[in-house]
Amino acid sequence: MPYCTQCGKPVGEADRYCAHCGAAQPSSWRNGLGGLNPRSASILCYLPLVGWIVAIIVLASNRFRKERLVRFHAFQGLYLFVTWLLVDWVIGPMSAMVGIKPFHPGVAALLKLVVLAAWIFMLVKTAQGETYRLPILGELAERSVAERE
Ligand SMILES: [Zn+2]
Repeated sequence: MPYCTQCGKPVGEADRYCAHCGAAQPSSWRNGLGGLNPRSASILCYLPLVGWIVAIIVLASNRFRKERLVRFHAFQGLYLFVTWLLVDWVIGPMSAMVGIKPFHPGVAALLKLVVLAAWIFMLVKTAQGETYRLPILGELAERSVAERE
């Protein structure tokens, strides 16, 4: 049972406001998205290949609208998936063509490995409660969070 951040009296799991003093309660105590807390939601955004589904749900939901950190992870997870798609759809087919030197057939496979490693790295970091900003993608994610506030 959570307690009021203001007066310390017990409040209901789904209460937006304390019944005793009327103080607004942190949204993490409210149910929604199957009772997902911000931490779990953030971690799920980095599930390789499927995390983007969670990320989109997080970004579309009212529940996490004010949770900057969760939104940051959602965007970063989403951009990781976009990177994966780019590698799959652009660099992969291009490297299959003969004569395009910058894209050696091994490059696409290597880039996919990098994205996969980044997903796993972020799963671990986020599970440990760390907010790690990936190069480029982390910056993009931060900008996206700020834009939509
Ligand atoms: Zn209270």
